[in-house]
Amino acid sequence: MFNLILFGPPGSGKGTQSEKLIAKYGLKHLSTGDLLRSEISCQTPLGKEAKSIMDKGQLVPDEVVIGMISSALDANPDARGFLFDGFPRTAAQAEALDKLLELKEAPIAAMLALEVSEDELIKRLLKRGETSGRSDDTNEVVIRARITEYHNKTAVVADYYKKFDKVVMVKGEGTIDEIFNRLCTEIDKRA
Ligand code: AMP
Repeated sequence: MFNLILFGPPGSGKGTQSEKLIAKYGLKHLSTGDLLRSEISCQTPLGKEAKSIMDKGQLVPDEVVIGMISSALDANPDARGFLFDGFPRTAAQAEALDKLLELKEAPIAAMLALEVSEDELIKRLLKRGETSGRSDDTNEVVIRARITEYHNKTAVVADYYKKFDKVVMVKGEGTIDEIFNRLCTEIDKRA
């Protein structure tokens, strides 16, 4: 089993690159943002609770997302590996993920971190908001809150994986294919 984390601030291209990576490497894509949005569209109690938090650009409680990931791992016992997108976002989530993967004897091979300047992120997210239907992409105040949340809470996740020498910084600007090729070069070194 080959497990990867795709990391980076909102708007760094995780969704776009994930689609290409899962197709090439045969991985199962696990995006906590997508899982939460599906709970919202099904109007589940969890979805209703998460929506108000997500609309403010804040993080949903750790136990909620850890529970969702744990269920998704159990639901895919035959997966060749997983590409985690938007998870883990806190040190507690990273520790919980390591424990879950220990049970499967399949540690994280690498955390690929996309780096994009803040101006470019805001430009991309406002553009995405014109078509994505995502309420958290249309308001610049919420976008900035999400980027601040990323720096305040999520950057510690990179520190966690640095201890295990698993962080790989990848330039997230350029064409989609240029960025994809940079990611593949790094993955192939570790496969
Ligand atoms: P994303 O699609 O990854 O940008 O996530 C959209 C929103 O969902 C975030 O701004 C958070 O409110 C919430 N979210 C997604 N993943 C997580 C996570 N791992 N931990 C906490 N909140 C999350």
